[in-house]
Amino acid sequence: MSDIIRRDPRAEWIARNRLHPLHAAMQPAQHSWMGPNGLIRKNPHGIGFIGPNGLKRIDRSGAQQGGSAKRTAAAEVQLPLHQVAQPAFYISVVPDMVGGRLSSHDRDLLGLAHQLAGQDGAVLAVVFGEHKESAFATAGVDRLLVLQGSEFDGYAPEQRVQGLRAVDNQFSPRHWLLPDSRTGGGELGRRFAAALGERPATRVWQVKDGQCIGRAGAGLQDLARPVARLILAAAECAEPVSESRHEALSVELSTSLARSLARIEDLGAVAVDPAAIPMAEAEFIFSGGNGVKDWPLFHQTAAALGATEGASRVAVDDGFMARDRQVGASGIWVTARVYVAVGISGAIQHLQGIGACDKVVAINLDPGCDMIKRADLSVIGDSAEILKALIAAVAAYRNDAKRDAA
Ligand SMILES: Cc1cc2nc3c(=O)[nH]c(=O)nc-3n(C[C@H](O)[C@H](O)[C@H](O)COP(=O)(O)OP(=O)(O)OC[C@H]3O[C@@H](n4cnc5c(N)ncnc54)[C@H](O)[C@@H]3O)c2cc1C
Repeated sequence: MSDIIRRDPRAEWIARNRLHPLHAAMQPAQHSWMGPNGLIRKNPHGIGFIGPNGLKRIDRSGAQQGGSAKRTAAAEVQLPLHQVAQPAFYISVVPDMVGGRLSSHDRDLLGLAHQLAGQDGAVLAVVFGEHKESAFATAGVDRLLVLQGSEFDGYAPEQRVQGLRAVDNQFSPRHWLLPDSRTGGGELGRRFAAALGERPATRVWQVKDGQCIGRAGAGLQDLARPVARLILAAAECAEPVSESRHEALSVELSTSLARSLARIEDLGAVAVDPAAIPMAEAEFIFSGGNGVKDWPLFHQTAAALGATEGASRVAVDDGFMARDRQVGASGIWVTARVYVAVGISGAIQHLQGIGACDKVVAINLDPGCDMIKRADLSVIGDSAEILKALIAAVAAYRNDAKRDAA
């Protein structure tokens, strides 16, 4: 395993926040120190750890007692479990599940759902078809309803609306929350509202004091109205759930879904040129900085990956990339699901621009640079070598896939 110490911004925030329930667990263990008269003092109460059943345990091997200041994955803290045995009502969330996983926008919505659910309500997530998500419990899902069936695959808004109507009939949620996104929720939510004959609150960025506030007038005005039953919410409408674990109990529809003849035929996705996708909308960005020494190789790798190209300001100022590709405070703020930074040091102005990216991959020579600290996955080495290896790996993967399909 790598010896690089990774920063965990959430753990650091909890360690600073004395009112957080996990504050004590995040403090570095200090069990002995030198007193004013030069004697070594020991705190016997600080030794040991609290076991899962709440009893204090002492590990005589010493492995868990001070010594190493480095926090290990095994010492991960168990969040308190939030249970709703008999929900008084439901708040339904229909996450977009882009790529089969909860997006950061979906998690914001689950956070908003918990604000509306309080202690008595349960958050019911409605998911269509196959998914790859394993963190529903920590994202705040109390009940999980997976609507299975090939009719929900691909672009199937009519069938999905029918599914949601069946959920509405059975659970009568107090509120419905959908992401007001281009990846599905925006359209599905509007269609669902029309089917229910209800006026949704759209582009909502705040719900407070019985009012929901949404953007209007080409984003220049705010529109406040009493909290609607159907809310289409913007990203960052609420803080995602981070301080509790939830049951994510599976629930099912009691009636089978009526199959309707679809009026829409999905002919599949249209291939687009990644270079033509506006940076602010790109899902996968491959960005180059001053550490890129071979620009033709950089472009070749971006094409092999099918990624949209981005750049640091230095790469733009040096004339290697166009100005409209600059990511950062004085460039474009991006929201990609995957952001690959090649030879970018991670200056604060650049990091500001990638604050909303889900997963960051850093390729850099310097293991101590700020981009590596920000990254979810880091590759330490010369960018040219790594890009060549990446192209070879992509080609091998495609060949294998072709062989399997043949
Ligand atoms: C007002 C203001 C606004 C700014 N706005 C922006 C902005 O919007 N966007 C922006 O990006 N910057 C912006 N900057 C500039 C910013 O401060 C940095 O100077 C810039 O981001 C650095 O770009 P870089 O990381 O590509 O280059 P460097 O800081 O030079 O980093 C190069 C990195 O490449 C690595 N490296 C070198 N050789 C290799 C190799 N062979 N293989 C792998 N890695 C290698 C190095 O270890 C280093 O980490 C702004 C600055 C100011 C003052």
